[in-house]
Amino acid sequence: MYKAPVDEILFTLKHVAGLGEDLAAGIFGDLDEGLVDAIVGEAGRFATDEVAPLADIGDRQGSKLIDGKVQVPEGWADLYRNWAAGGWNSLTAPEEFGGQALPHMLHIAAMEFWNAGSMAFALAPMLTMGAVDALEKHGSAALKSTYLARMISGEWTGTMNLTEPHAGSDLGVLKTRAERRDDGTYRIFGQKIFITWGDHEVTDNIVHLVLARIAGAPEGTRGISLFLVPKFLVKEDGSLGARNDLFCHSLEHKLGIHASPTCTMVYGDGRFGDEKGAVGYLVGEENKGLNCMFTMMNNARLAVGIQGVAMAEAATQHALNYARERTQGKAPGWKGTGMSPIIEHPDIARTLLTMKALTQGARAIS
Ligand SMILES: Cc1cc2nc3c(=O)[nH]c(=O)nc-3n(C[C@H](O)[C@H](O)[C@H](O)COP(=O)(O)OP(=O)(O)OC[C@H]3O[C@@H](n4cnc5c(N)ncnc54)[C@H](O)[C@@H]3O)c2cc1C
Repeated sequence: MYKAPVDEILFTLKHVAGLGEDLAAGIFGDLDEGLVDAIVGEAGRFATDEVAPLADIGDRQGSKLIDGKVQVPEGWADLYRNWAAGGWNSLTAPEEFGGQALPHMLHIAAMEFWNAGSMAFALAPMLTMGAVDALEKHGSAALKSTYLARMISGEWTGTMNLTEPHAGSDLGVLKTRAERRDDGTYRIFGQKIFITWGDHEVTDNIVHLVLARIAGAPEGTRGISLFLVPKFLVKEDGSLGARNDLFCHSLEHKLGIHASPTCTMVYGDGRFGDEKGAVGYLVGEENKGLNCMFTMMNNARLAVGIQGVAMAEAATQHALNYARERTQGKAPGWKGTGMSPIIEHPDIARTLLTMKALTQGARAIS
């Protein structure tokens, strides 16, 4: 089972990424080494003791769509809620919206732990944090005050809706459409596929960031706008209102991340609400949506890099454990009884050391 490499990560942060010098120079205010050690140590413990033990059951059971509701595997809803209650979603978010404004490198260290514990689990916060980033940079004051604090605390999750059946790498051909309404809102109609954590009952609302084309907009990428489309509409007092006109039509089955609900989402089919069309709020300017979404996509790209480091660390740990247990042949100089553990064979040791060195190198770069 995965065990978070807390000491290695602290070493990398302090001596490779330069956190030690930064702390000494006081550029992070009153943050000191003791607090850094405590945060990284507790994140590692949570990943080892709480996340990793649910990875297997998560992948075996997977998320399921039952009677129109997405159910996550046993124990996963509590896992997410305990994780959010621990403040892990808000590490680097701005203080103005309830965040802890800690250095981004602590978040990167923690993201390695969550991903190595279970990538399917880490995908939920990864998408939420990307949505927070995009909303913080491009959202209106009204949208920020309604949504940001509850996304930063992890009370609500966020999603990224780019992909359509015919529009993958080439988003310029996307067809989801938005119609303007007199009250300044929009109505969204279309289908999105592969939407990570697109629907679930773990939190009581989900904030979708959706790319769509406003009627009459230019062709191609210059006619794409970004909309915030909540699963439940939010009333002026902040309480939840009516169900918005969107739903999860089906789930994909992605190797190794069955617990992460990868959804086909349908907007504006008339299933919910009096008027057809999901209510959406413009983020940024009309036809500049792709620029705004790039904030989220770039955040996701960096996070995917950390996923790679996390997978490499988890694979190295599995390989090491196996090589210590599996006995075969007799290694040169082996003095024990019976066959030697395969880790004693010089060529196996070389392979394992190569894995370790490549993982540490990738971590240092990240
Ligand atoms: C696990 C998972 C989770 C995802 N989560 C989300 C999500 O949350 N939200 C979301 O919107 N999308 C999500 N996606 C979708 C993802 O963004 C798309 O898969 C991606 O944009 C690529 O689109 P595609 O799969 O249609 O591949 P295609 O665009 O069909 O590409 C197929 C191959 O052709 C190559 N290719 C395409 N065009 C060119 C070109 N011009 N030149 C050279 N090579 C080219 C590509 O690199 C790729 O190798 C997810 C996908 C996966 C697998």
